[in-house]
Amino acid sequence: MTITKLQISVRELDKAKLKQPPAAGQKLLFGKEFSDRMFILKYTPDKGWHDAEIRQYENLSLSPAALVLHYAPEVFEGLKAYRQPDGGVAMFRPLDNFRRMNVSAERVCLPALDIDFALSALTELVRLEQNWVSSDAGASLYIRPTLIGIDPYVGLKAPEEALFYIILSPVGAYYAQGFEPVSIMVEDKYVRAVRGGLGAAKTGANYAASILAGQLAKKKGFDQVLWLDGIEQRYVEEVGSMNIFFVYGEKIVTSALNGSILPGITRDSVLKLSKHWGLEVAEDKLDIDQVIADIASGKITEIFGSGTAAVVSPVGALYHEGREYAVGGAKTKVGALTQKLYDNLTGIQYGKIPDPFGWLV
Ligand code: PMP
Repeated sequence: MTITKLQISVRELDKAKLKQPPAAGQKLLFGKEFSDRMFILKYTPDKGWHDAEIRQYENLSLSPAALVLHYAPEVFEGLKAYRQPDGGVAMFRPLDNFRRMNVSAERVCLPALDIDFALSALTELVRLEQNWVSSDAGASLYIRPTLIGIDPYVGLKAPEEALFYIILSPVGAYYAQGFEPVSIMVEDKYVRAVRGGLGAAKTGANYAASILAGQLAKKKGFDQVLWLDGIEQRYVEEVGSMNIFFVYGEKIVTSALNGSILPGITRDSVLKLSKHWGLEVAEDKLDIDQVIADIASGKITEIFGSGTAAVVSPVGALYHEGREYAVGGAKTKVGALTQKLYDNLTGIQYGKIPDPFGWLV
């Protein structure tokens, strides 16, 4: 359904409730503060998408019976806007996020968005809130589009009424403490997703399924877990809430999308950029025993995670079946390709180097 022409009404803000946009040098914790405005759009079967509004950021009012609170029909996205050298603001691949959101929505029976309309609403919201994009090094504005099923009904069914909204949260540099490799535990008890399940969708239930394992790994002194497939617990899927890459000298390998892995937009960007540089890239089914053997023999020279928050996150060591395997000889070393990808992706995002793919909007 095309709703590109839907009017967005921009509501007056209550001046008494206005907040302070981030000041230069201000410490910003991820996800705790939100800008003054949000975008909101309603869906009902009779009217379709309607009542598009940019209004004050405020609490939602939902029935305690709302489907999302019981059966979790919910999908979301995460992307960022970055301050550009000319003082403007750019978002990184926003249409790809809305495309992925529609794929996720279909899996949990939520209505599809018109992605061009969603992008125009997001652009208008970010334009109005541009003071919330800090100019500090590494800072950005995190964008969280969210879609929930809200029918006031405690019976299990496909949602018919939905809310789509976008909120904005200023964030500081992810690597404020430096670009440090993380230590990862191969998770052999819990799984994040199974084939045929929800893994390829960006839906809250996947994250609920993952928190406990992450918490237990942290208690044991690791930064995150490496997820194996949910059937044989043998094939590598993701790392924490990032996709994972293995560097074999001049070749870069990631787990093939198999239905239980989230198709990360950073993952796709890493693949495209690496190909552009003439590196050999492969998407494959990766056996954990082979990966461990290849780290031990030195064939794997670097490992990193990829995602919007960190861009790339170097992995210093994997812990598997009671042993630690340092990557590339030393667990504190950041690999040259990991560093190069980080520098180039952030260079494109912050408008400091040319964007050969037209990723910035
Ligand atoms: N996997 C999972 C489970 C994630 O939550 C994310 C973050 N959205 C990613 C991978 C990376 O995706 P992207 O590069 O689009 O941020």
